[in-house]
Amino acid sequence: MAYSTRYGADKSSTVNGSILAQLRDIIPGGVSDKESDRIVYSRDYWPISLRWELEGSVPALPDCIVWPETTEQVAEVIKLAGRRHIPVIPYGGGSGVMGGTVPVSGGIIVDMKRMDAVRDIDDMSLMVTAQTGINGMNFERYLNRYGYTLGHIPQSLYCSSLGGWLACRAAGQFSTKYGKIEDMVVALEAVLADGTVIHSKAVPRSSTGPQVERLLVGSEGTLGIITEATLKIWPYPEERSLTSFAFGDIAHALEAARNIMRKNVYPAVVRIYDENETLRHFYETEEAEGKCMMVLLMEGDRRLVELEKAISIEACTAAQGIPCGDEPVLHWLESRFNVRESSEFTPRGFIFDTVEVSSSWKNALLLYRNVISAMRGIEGVAVASGHASHFYPQGVCFYFTFGGVPPKNRTPHAFYMEVWDAIMRACLESGGSISHHHGIGITRTKWLSEEMGARFSMLERIRAAVDPHSIMNPGKMVRNHDE
Ligand SMILES: Cc1cc2nc3c(=O)[nH]c(=O)nc-3n(C[C@H](O)[C@H](O)[C@H](O)COP(=O)(O)OP(=O)(O)OC[C@H]3O[C@@H](n4cnc5c(N)ncnc54)[C@H](O)[C@@H]3O)c2cc1C
Repeated sequence: MAYSTRYGADKSSTVNGSILAQLRDIIPGGVSDKESDRIVYSRDYWPISLRWELEGSVPALPDCIVWPETTEQVAEVIKLAGRRHIPVIPYGGGSGVMGGTVPVSGGIIVDMKRMDAVRDIDDMSLMVTAQTGINGMNFERYLNRYGYTLGHIPQSLYCSSLGGWLACRAAGQFSTKYGKIEDMVVALEAVLADGTVIHSKAVPRSSTGPQVERLLVGSEGTLGIITEATLKIWPYPEERSLTSFAFGDIAHALEAARNIMRKNVYPAVVRIYDENETLRHFYETEEAEGKCMMVLLMEGDRRLVELEKAISIEACTAAQGIPCGDEPVLHWLESRFNVRESSEFTPRGFIFDTVEVSSSWKNALLLYRNVISAMRGIEGVAVASGHASHFYPQGVCFYFTFGGVPPKNRTPHAFYMEVWDAIMRACLESGGSISHHHGIGITRTKWLSEEMGARFSMLERIRAAVDPHSIMNPGKMVRNHDE
C-alpha cells in the first residue's frame, strides 16, 4: 500500500518480534500488527487527518494494537512497555477530534473496546460501575433497560466510550441538568505508567487530602489507563417538556439563559444558535427568520418540570423572545446525531472544524463577537458561525464552526492551523478558556502553556513523576520528560 506518514516517519519500530510474542502471551488472540489494522488506528476523528487520508497520507502508524479484556492484562502490557520505553496509547471509540489517539512516536495502541462489562448497579446509592471500554450508546441503553439514565448524551454517543469521556472531560447535550462527566464520576480504577493499579472508594465525598485519582480525569491518556469507573445515575425521567423561542439577536438570547440560571433552574438542554446557524438548522420555523433560536428541554419529576418550564418561559419573555413551540426542539431531537457534513464536504476540498471554548457571563458576548470576527478575518473562510450549548450560573460554552477553501498560497494544514490560531488567540484575549470539552490532543498542545500559566510546569512535573520515560501517549499535552 502506498502512503506517507505525517509524524514519526523517521522513527524505527520499537516493537520487535520478541515484544509481539510477549504481548501475545499476555493477551492470547488480542494482538495485531497487520498493516491494515495499523492504518485504521493511525488516526481518530481529527478533521484535518481525514483530509490527509484522502491525499494518501496517515498521521502516524502504531507498531501494533492490543485488545485487553482485564485490568491485569492492561497492567502487564504497560509493565512490558515500560521496561522497553515503548509508547502506549489508550484508545476508546476513536471519536476524539483533537488527534489525541494519534501514535506520534509509534508504539502500542491499547484498544479498550473488549473491556465493556457493566459490573454493578447500586439502586440504593444510585451508582453504576462499568469497565471503561463500554460504548456510550450501549451503556445508556443498558441503563435505560433497568429504569435509569446516566444523563451523559454527547453527540458522539454512538461512537465514543466511557474511558474516552473521562479522559477528555467530555460534556453531553443534557449537561446543564446532569453535569459533565467529572460531575458524574464517583470512583475510578486506573493503571499507571509503571503498571500500578489504583482504586478509589465509591463514596459521595471524602476529606482525605487531594483526590489524586481525579488527575486521570482529563489527562487524555498521558497519566495512565482508566479501566473501571463508578458513576452517578438517575431514575429515568417521568416527564419531558419542550419549548423554544426566537430572539432578535444573540445578546437577548444569552440574557434569557443567564436569567434562567440565576434562578437556580437547570433545564436538561439549553441551546442558542446564532443567526447563521438558526438559518442552517431551523429554516422551516418562520418566526425564527433572521433571528437566534433557543431550544429548551426540561425533564425529571413532573411537578419540577412544570415549574422549570414556567420559570424559563418567564425569562425568555422578559428578554423579548418570540415563542416558537415544541416543533424546533423535536427537529433538534431528530437531527442531533447527524454529522454527515464532514464526510460530504471534506472530499470536495472544503476544510472545516468545530471549536468549543468557555467564558464567564461577563466576557461572553465579547468573546463570541471576537471569535466570529477572527474567523472571518482569515482569507478563504466561507462559513463562520456559533452556538452556545452548555450553561452555568457563571458562564457558557460557545461552539464555533468554520469552513472554507484554502487560498492558493496555503496548504490545507497551514490554512487549518491559521484559523485555529486566530480562534485561540481571540479566545485568550477575551478572557476565555481554550477548550470546554474536546480537550487538547495535538491541535491545542501549543496553546496549553499560555492557557495554564505556571500550572503548566506543575502538570509537567506531575507527568514526569508518574511517567518518567513518557511512555503514556507521548507528544500530547506536555513535552516528553526525556526530550
Ligand atoms: C461527531 C462527533 C460528535 C462529538 N460530540 C461530542 C460531544 O457532544 N461532547 C463531547 O464532550 N465530545 C464530543 N466529541 C468528541 C469525542 O467524542 C469525545 O472527546 C469523547 O470523549 C472521546 O471518546 P472516545 O472513546 O472516542 O475516545 P478516543 O478518541 O478513543 O480517545 C480520546 C483520548 O482519550 C484517551 N483515552 C481513551 N480511552 C482512555 C482510557 N480508558 N483511559 C485513559 N485514556 C483514554 C485517548 O488516548 C485519547 O487521548 C464528538 C466527536 C465527534 C466525532
